[in-house]
Amino acid sequence: MNILVINSGSSSIKYLLLDMRTEAVLCSGAVERIGEEMGNLSHKIAPGTMGESQVSLSEPIANHEKGMHLVIALITDPERGVVKSKDEITAIGHRIVQGGDLFTASCLVDDEVVAGLEKLVPLAPVHNPGHLAGIRVARELFPGTPQVTVFDTVFHQTMPPRAFMYALPYELYDELKLRRYGFHGTSHCYVTKEAAKFLGKPVDDVNLITVHLGNGSSMCAVQGGKSVDTSMGLTPLEGLIMGTRCGDTDLAIYPLLEAAKGLNITEINDLTNKKSGFKGICGMNDLRDIHKAVAEGNARARLALDMFGYRNRKYIGSYMAVLGRVDAIVFTAGIGENDPVSRELSCRGLSALGVELDHERNQSGERGARDIGAKSSKVRVLVIPTNEELEIARQTAEVLRAR
Ligand code: AMP
Repeated sequence: MNILVINSGSSSIKYLLLDMRTEAVLCSGAVERIGEEMGNLSHKIAPGTMGESQVSLSEPIANHEKGMHLVIALITDPERGVVKSKDEITAIGHRIVQGGDLFTASCLVDDEVVAGLEKLVPLAPVHNPGHLAGIRVARELFPGTPQVTVFDTVFHQTMPPRAFMYALPYELYDELKLRRYGFHGTSHCYVTKEAAKFLGKPVDDVNLITVHLGNGSSMCAVQGGKSVDTSMGLTPLEGLIMGTRCGDTDLAIYPLLEAAKGLNITEINDLTNKKSGFKGICGMNDLRDIHKAVAEGNARARLALDMFGYRNRKYIGSYMAVLGRVDAIVFTAGIGENDPVSRELSCRGLSALGVELDHERNQSGERGARDIGAKSSKVRVLVIPTNEELEIARQTAEVLRAR
């Protein structure tokens, strides 16, 4: 069974083809700058293996249809293709950012699902139109192939109302569905299952705090394998401090910015999403650059790092209060998997709550799933590499099996 995972954005299509017998990646790539004067396509065959090779091309790519045609031609190329024809693609899994509360599970795409996604565009104006374009084209080009939507929000649909409601006038929830949805659900779901395996417990027995720290960051309180709270909200802006997003702030800053700086709401949205977080504090959004700057004595970079660690710690503490019993804190994604300093800052001072790091294991350059907690730590501290594409492919296969 080969599954093609597609992440279609407004001007890009990222893809990955997996052989589900072994879960090996056959090829992966990205079509970028769709609709611009010049488009790009980069295609990797057997990435991460000895046989890895790459094809790149630059040409105008007018729309998603043209982009998908190019991808299919590369995947089925008579000489370098990883499959002989598109019939060898058993199913397609589509990554969808916002499923609102219309979608509580991954599901087979039909006209009703497409209509649901269209209805959700006001909640995800940046993402859902791009996803819809990808689904439309994939359904045209693969008419007989089952297609499945896998949502970033679905894992968090188990949150109780006390966690997902905002204390705004209730009518706004009724009318506009304003509530916390949470994101990175596919990642939180994947590391939850992997952490349960690592701990040797059934997934519905584990209580975890999953900490996805990347350019976008979020945390999730997992009780009995299910999300009961998460830091991102109606959009991915809320919660932790991120590369360019501010996370939690006082909403009263907005009218003040309007009055003092003459910014309109679109400009404020841009400022909080694209010019804040690490970038807003110290001018850099990549943590590796921030570490270099800290080493050179840059006080703003030091402050950004301190603020990041402090906010993470506050969330971990509050999720410990939410969960009562915590089996493990699980770090994942670019920063969570690779940066011992961030993990140390996020766990600092939590020993009274039973969280103690083994500093040597935290620092070691080991890869893969590992325990970095001290032997005496009551709460295990794990690093589990995330794999959202594999999770999408697994969920796609599960939906096919359940048909
Ligand atoms: P992601 O969005 O998951 O790809 O993560 C991107 C973030 O991970 C960026 O801030 C990178 O600086 C950070 N990152 C990636 N590799 C490392 C590393 N080896 N050490 C520290 N930070 C890293």
